[in-house]
Amino acid sequence: VDVDGVGGWSNARIEPYGPIAMDPAASVLHYGQEIFEGLKAYRHGDGSVWSFRPEANAARFNTSARRLALPELPEEIFIESLRQLVETDQAWVPSGDGEALYLRPFMIATEAFLGVRPAREVSYRVIASPAGNYFGGELKPISIWLSTNYARAGEGGTGEAKCGGNYAASLAAQMEAEAQGCKQVLFLDPFNDNAIEELGGMNIFFVFKDGRLVTPALNGHILHGITRSSVMQLAADRGLKVEERKITIDEWRDGVDSGEITEAFACGTAAVITPIGELKTAQGSIASPGSGAGEVTMAIRETLLGIQTGAVEDLHGWLTRLI
Ligand code: PMP
Repeated sequence: VDVDGVGGWSNARIEPYGPIAMDPAASVLHYGQEIFEGLKAYRHGDGSVWSFRPEANAARFNTSARRLALPELPEEIFIESLRQLVETDQAWVPSGDGEALYLRPFMIATEAFLGVRPAREVSYRVIASPAGNYFGGELKPISIWLSTNYARAGEGGTGEAKCGGNYAASLAAQMEAEAQGCKQVLFLDPFNDNAIEELGGMNIFFVFKDGRLVTPALNGHILHGITRSSVMQLAADRGLKVEERKITIDEWRDGVDSGEITEAFACGTAAVITPIGELKTAQGSIASPGSGAGEVTMAIRETLLGIQTGAVEDLHGWLTRLI
């Protein structure tokens, strides 16, 4: 669907996958006025297809739109676009264990001009791609790399928005992580005593011996992960106390050394929940106890995946039927 600056959204259509023709002066190409979302559609045992909390993605999309001076998209259009695409491409929705159709809604500024200002012509599109296990193969604890040369976001910046520019800015750090044999990079908050913030594409949780879960508090520039908020709810359902607060690398290291912190995991739409086996830093590493795939991590993972795939009852009304 498109916006032409005067009317609302119009020109809804399903197109075969292929290149998008754009003016070389389209402002997205120069000023990065772009936002996106990521969510999954799961096929249940009876063949029906469901998405997980799409209204939360629609709301976050509009938060991103406001920050990037893009027009908001009504929730009904967001969800209807997913429904129509999945309906058209239903053969692509996999039914294998943990497999899903990844949906990527995005909005780009297509108006051609060279001055710096918000575009009046924008385009909203969705692409779909079958997705298996994000890190490939069996679930293995991941190693992550502590970025000290780069920050992901800054006070007053675009950290809370899901915009391409944030990811462009994270790639140099991600390359460092990969050079160290790590799957993801961990960013700190240089504006708050280097508190732990989030990974390149996931939020982070720590499990304490007494059953508490700790995750970094939303500070205005952490992405409001939908998996993060779901994990908080599922932990509360299990009677676990969840603390959103400041946590530092020193607390993590000391907590592992003293046995207080027993598990660490990362969470996001793509990988759902993944145990963190090790944090590598320029000054040595922090290894999770045991194999890293701890009991609490795996129990919450199983419940969450179970809800998504229809094996566990959806007590919170998180699923929306697409077809
Ligand atoms: N943080 C960042 C930077 C991300 O890119 C993502 C993935 N969208 C997340 C956290 C996790 O968010 P969600 O659970 O909504 O996928």
